This record gives sequence, C-alpha cells and structure tokens, in this order.
Amino acid sequence: MNQPLAIVTGAGSGIGAAIAIELGRRGFHVVATDLDAAAAQVTARAIASAEAHPLDVTDAAACDALVARLVDAHARLDVWVSNAGISKMQRFVDVAPADLARTFAVNTYGAFYGGQSAARAMIALGAGGCIINTASMAAKKGGVPFLADYVASKFAVLGLTQAMAYELAPHGIRVNSVCPGFVATPMQSRELVWEAALRGTASEVVKQMWIDDTPLGRLQTPDDVAKVVAFLASPDAEFLTGESISVNGGAFMD
Ligand code: NAP
Repeated sequence: MNQPLAIVTGAGSGIGAAIAIELGRRGFHVVATDLDAAAAQVTARAIASAEAHPLDVTDAAACDALVARLVDAHARLDVWVSNAGISKMQRFVDVAPADLARTFAVNTYGAFYGGQSAARAMIALGAGGCIINTASMAAKKGGVPFLADYVASKFAVLGLTQAMAYELAPHGIRVNSVCPGFVATPMQSRELVWEAALRGTASEVVKQMWIDDTPLGRLQTPDDVAKVVAFLASPDAEFLTGESISVNGGAFMD
C-alpha cells in the first residue's frame, strides 16, 4: 500500500473522530479505534480509505496485538494518535481511589501503552514516524475546577511526551501533544452538567463562562484541534518534537 497509515484511539467520538476524518482527507489510510467498536465504524465510514477496530487503550497487550496485526497487513506505520481520554468532574476531596485509578488508566497509561506499541513497531520498521498525544489545556494549567485527577493525568502526558520525544528522536520518531481548551464534544456536554451542579447554576451560565474565558470568543470545535494534529503529522512539522501545542482560542497562553 502506498498510502501512509495513521492509527487514532478514541476515534469514535468528538476530537478523535475529527482527527481521523482530517487525516483521511489529507491522504492517510486511517485506522479508527475506540472502546466502542460501533462508534469507530461510523467514523471509518466517513473516510475514503479507512478501517475500524475495537481497542481499549488500558490494555497494553491489546495495543501491541492490534499494532502487530496492522503492521503485518500494511507493512508500515506512519502516525499514531493517542487521543482516548475520560473525565469526571468532582471536588478534589471527593475523588475516590477507583476514579483516580481509572482516570490515570485511560489518560496516562493509555497514552503510555499505545505510544510504546507504536514506537516498537516504528523502530522495527526503521522508517521513523510521528506520535501525537491529545493532552489538554488542563495539562498546563492546574487552576481549573473539579478536575484534580484529570489535571494530574494530563500533566503526566506532557512529561511523557517530552521523555518519548527525547528517547525516540534517534529513530526519526517525532512525539508531540496538542492541548485543547473548551471543545464542544460529548465529554464537554457531560462536564457542563457536572460543573453547573457543582457551582449551583445552569449549564448555559457555565457555557458562557467558558466562552468569556476564550479571547477568540467561541467554544472550540473538534476540527480546530484536528487541523493542528494534521499539521503535526505533516512534513511541515518535520523539525518539531517534544512540544505541546496549545489550541484553545487563547484561553490559556504559555
Ligand atoms: P469524547 O467525546 O468523550 O470521546 C472520547 C472517546 O474515547 C470516546 O469515544 C470514548 O469511548 C473513548 N474512550 C474512552 N475510554 C477509552 C478506552 N479505555 N479505550 C479506548 N477508547 C476510549 O471526548 P473528547 O472531548 O473528544 O476528548 C478526546 C480527547 O481530548 C481526550 O483525551 C480528552 O481528555 C481531550 N480533551 C478534550 C477537551 C474537551 O473540551 N472536550 C479538552 C481538552 C482535552 P466511550 O464513549 O465508549 O467511552
């Protein structure tokens, strides 16, 4: 196959679906993966050259097995996007050990395992590659309410991105993150309800607070993020590694 191969996790919804579709538009053969296999199928059907596979990113052996199957079939791996993530809003003092463990399992360990599987395959193939992690504005700014476990899990992703970039550079593998702000996705819809309840106000009030916090004056779309991921995956970013690119309409500047 001549087309470059990109694998995206959490591609059945929101930002991951937009990333998969944008990479498809730019000529990749896209593998849409998700915990929800049917949702991944829906995304794949929107892309000219694509396939869908179930993948739970908390399962390291499953990440390895899927990458091995795909590399066997396509004889290449150009881009891996660790995008799957979860959030649950609650006060710091109320976060139960099981919630903390689940948040880290998906957001941090998931990016670690998937990155390892992709890197092992890319090293074996010897043709370099590109790994992109979907982190968050909350990976750079701890001053966000009701997301302590999420913030901790995403700060870890930024450290991981730098460590991976450093170790994998000799193999021609670039590793970067994107850090979205307030993106209109199913995750955001859940957060609107939680934050409104925790603040004792209405979802519309919270939504307006988020827009007011964003100098460019609107909520983000998944496409805003996908276009930056596509840039990171492109030759235009060939000398860019270890970075965590904020794409948040100015809601947090660093
Ligand atoms: P979303 O709409 O909830 O989509 C996340 C997708 O990941 C869902 O399809 C979900 O499947 C899947 N997923 C959850 N656990 C998984 C697992 N263990 N293995 C594989 N897939 C799994 O969320 P989103 O807003 O698009 O978020 C995508 C990424 O962007 C996340 O890493 C999130 O932290 C990050 N982010 C989002 C925002 C925002 O404002 N929305 C801001 C900054 C960063 P199920 O639906 O079946 O659980």
